[in-house]
Amino acid sequence: MKTNPWHSIKQDRHHDNTSCNTGNNIESENRRSGTGGKPLCTECARL
Ligand SMILES: [Zn+2]
Repeated sequence: MKTNPWHSIKQDRHHDNTSCNTGNNIESENRRSGTGGKPLCTECARL
């Protein structure tokens, strides 16, 4: 399911899908809301 974007301060992509494994594995201390000005993750783009 598509949702509001979030990203990890340790990754150069943002996520917008609740089914994205990479996005779901982000540790809470590294997780930030919004795109961070980064391009969409390829896994989220496929979902
Ligand atoms: Zn993703």
